[in-house]
Amino acid sequence: MTTCRTDFEHLISDRARAIDVSGIRRVFELGAKLAHPINLSIGQPDFAVPDVLKDAAIEAIRSDRNGYTLTQGIAELRTAISQHLLEDIGWETPSDELDLVVTSGTSGGLLLVLMATLNPGDEVIVPDPFFVVYPALTGLSGGTVVYCDTYPDFRTTAERIEPLITDRTKLLLLNSPSNPSGIVLRSDELRDLVDLCEARGVTIVSDEIYDEFTYQDSREDGRCPSPARFTDRLLLVRGFGKTYGCTGWRMGYAAGPRPIIEQMAKLQQYTFVCAPSIAQAGVVGAFGVDMGPLVKAYQGKRDRVLAALGPVTEVRHPGGAFYAFVRVPGEVAASATEFVERAILQNVLVIPGNVFSRRDTHFRLSYAASDETLDEGLDILAQLLTAGR
Ligand code: PMP
Repeated sequence: MTTCRTDFEHLISDRARAIDVSGIRRVFELGAKLAHPINLSIGQPDFAVPDVLKDAAIEAIRSDRNGYTLTQGIAELRTAISQHLLEDIGWETPSDELDLVVTSGTSGGLLLVLMATLNPGDEVIVPDPFFVVYPALTGLSGGTVVYCDTYPDFRTTAERIEPLITDRTKLLLLNSPSNPSGIVLRSDELRDLVDLCEARGVTIVSDEIYDEFTYQDSREDGRCPSPARFTDRLLLVRGFGKTYGCTGWRMGYAAGPRPIIEQMAKLQQYTFVCAPSIAQAGVVGAFGVDMGPLVKAYQGKRDRVLAALGPVTEVRHPGGAFYAFVRVPGEVAASATEFVERAILQNVLVIPGNVFSRRDTHFRLSYAASDETLDEGLDILAQLLTAGR
């Protein structure tokens, strides 16, 4: 019996079809042809998970803690997160007003927030450039994306957001430090955004997955600036994967107004069920691990990027995460995609800006690589960026 792939085409939902992965797929297809690419496209750190986390996860398996957990998360981890939130932003969770839920990665938290809050036609403001899944997750949840162009400095400011607010605007998806630009918003900018959103009835969803990857020059009082320090009427979504190098463990958490967290937990119960039990046990001690030296090493990598590419093109200062969003001058290539294809021919993998944006004028470079790999790639990119000029 033969079945043709096309027989099933009519079964595919509009929801699935609406997600366009062609841009990133093309880069991966081109990259797959390279035997040993200089890979500057990866969105995860290149260091090992701290031993205390590994040991705790292994111990959880050995001691038979392999079953379902409460959907909100295991008690020890909830306590650890509560303490961290109290120390870091002064939130009391759980309390009458606030609660938290442990999620399957930051992605799980984001999906649950959107599913719990959006009705068809509700508008979500998404600053452009954006983390690649925001538009797709908004669409899956029935919402409508309203893009906010933040070129050329990639700063999400109240002035840029204000004109886009309508009576259908429900959420602002904020991401600082940002993927793909590395931009970290200052407290004064965040306070203006909080004031604007509160005045206009818009709820901020703050994706702070890179909070610990905030470099010295962008920290305030030693910490990553967060809108959550100005209000507790927002949804905070954070994760463990990037900070501790355990992206595959799928660990995150969300905190915010109790009525929304309760709806998110209900949706989690019927979808993800719970975050992975052994990974939950693994990250209980995470907040006690000093990642400072590793973050400092990443700041050094960031400086290498600025030193190599700053003189040849525009790179806005990445204060956090491990990305730089680099402009491709018009006289070098007609589009970032064209430039990236050229880079791949030279064995360097980076991602064209149109994967993260409606524009195709920049590329995303990830410096989550060894210093040697990074330097090799930067040399080639700097040459390509000056060719023909
Ligand atoms: N938000 C941002 C801004 C990200 O860059 C990523 C991962 N690349 C995620 C969320 C998803 O993280 P997780 O692996 O924890 O689902």
